[in-house]
Amino acid sequence: MTLSLYNTLSRSKEKFVPIGTPVGLYTCGPTVYHYAHIGNLRTYVFEDLLKRVLLYNGYIVRQVMNVTDVGHLVGDGDMGEDKMEKGAAREGKTAWEIADYYLSAFKKDLHLLNINEPDVWCKATDYIQEQIDLIKELEAKGFTYVTSDGVYFDTEKFPNYNKLSHLKLEELKEGARIEKNSEKKNPTDFALWKFNTTGEKRQMEWESPWGAGFPGWHIECSAMSLHFLKGHLDIHCGAVDHINIHHTNEIAQSEAATGEKFFNYWIHGAFLNVGDDEKMSKSVGNILTLELVTGEERVDPLAFRYACLLTHYRKPMSYKAGMLQQADAALKNIRRSLESLPHEIGKVDEACEAEFLAAINDDLNMPQAVAVLQSVLKSTLADDVKAATIQRFDEVLGLNLTLGKITEELPEEIRQLAAERERARADRDWATSDASREQLEKLGYSVEDVAEGMKIRRNF
Ligand code: AMP
Ligand code: ZN
Repeated sequence: MTLSLYNTLSRSKEKFVPIGTPVGLYTCGPTVYHYAHIGNLRTYVFEDLLKRVLLYNGYIVRQVMNVTDVGHLVGDGDMGEDKMEKGAAREGKTAWEIADYYLSAFKKDLHLLNINEPDVWCKATDYIQEQIDLIKELEAKGFTYVTSDGVYFDTEKFPNYNKLSHLKLEELKEGARIEKNSEKKNPTDFALWKFNTTGEKRQMEWESPWGAGFPGWHIECSAMSLHFLKGHLDIHCGAVDHINIHHTNEIAQSEAATGEKFFNYWIHGAFLNVGDDEKMSKSVGNILTLELVTGEERVDPLAFRYACLLTHYRKPMSYKAGMLQQADAALKNIRRSLESLPHEIGKVDEACEAEFLAAINDDLNMPQAVAVLQSVLKSTLADDVKAATIQRFDEVLGLNLTLGKITEELPEEIRQLAAERERARADRDWATSDASREQLEKLGYSVEDVAEGMKIRRNF
């Protein structure tokens, strides 16, 4: 069975052919000066699905994810404030403490969404020497120039600078013109190394052949992917906002330095928007964290993963109120239908598996894969075959579809209300008892009085 993936380089679906074993997968990671928002997390869910699909197809995969803990500058250009130091000042902590704190928070989100951790985590600050070495290589080959605030890559010297973006050079220049830097030779040129021009020692700065400072925004991904995946530069991912600047610059500097192709497949996920078309982003100020949305809507975090599965990764997904509750209800329904299935699992149904594989191998068509799951649940297949088939699908879907009875732990607030109602009933205080019932119902729980007390059930 062929796995086909949409490659931004060719703007077409291509048959996936790995360089060798393992398949190298580089996924641009978080900038750890803030919590990840659910837009970022949509991208990490898509990348997790991609890795699981590769594994399902029998490939061995080595996934590398960088952690941007170095002080990059606010905005896509090379000007502006330092994100890490700004975050540190805001919270009264050091830049290093901020990085540790938000990296742990990020790992917690991954765990809640059942996203498998990468095989290699690499922090930019642990690979400063590799970044300096790459810049030295570029300097030796004549691709750099120095200005008063840093060492820059001369994009004019790199032919096919637009091969990923497919934009005309004029359009790329327009995009890069947002932040002005009069010393740059071309608007698209970007910093490889920034000098500390503040006159004060920064928390994060290093010595270099060009003076004390810190690496530019893009060089860490080139240096670390070449370090960890040399000879296995198969797939590089991120969301679509990385195409025109970050990934375009990664390709330019890496190929200029090595003289070799830098990654065969470039795969980009579409945005999570708020409402119909406003991108969720820190700069717009409309971000929502996983903790916030799942807490407010009182849903299982995996409901967000389920919601992501329902929109193809290359289509924009709109976040709307109530969406997670619907996804949560659908997921609970699936779980409920698994309750009656036996723990002893039989053989996977081959025809259904073929259908599932065709869907996931068609550029990760997860909405179709979920439709296949639903049809198996409704089918007349023998229970043990159904059980085996669903367990197999869950290797990719990652919804924790365990078999057998699920005993749902009631949240603390609900348990307290239930106890209050029980006390009121014992005291024959019907007004309080009715008020607690109403409160429970408002929170989405139904109450049934039975001989041994009361039964509380979550409404789906
Ligand atoms: P950042 O921490 O801003 O570098 O972003 C981490 C990842 O999230 C990158 O792959 C971005 O391209 C991606 N991303 C940022 N905003 C969104 C969004 N609204 N929807 C989907 N992915 C996003
Ligand atoms: Zn990157």
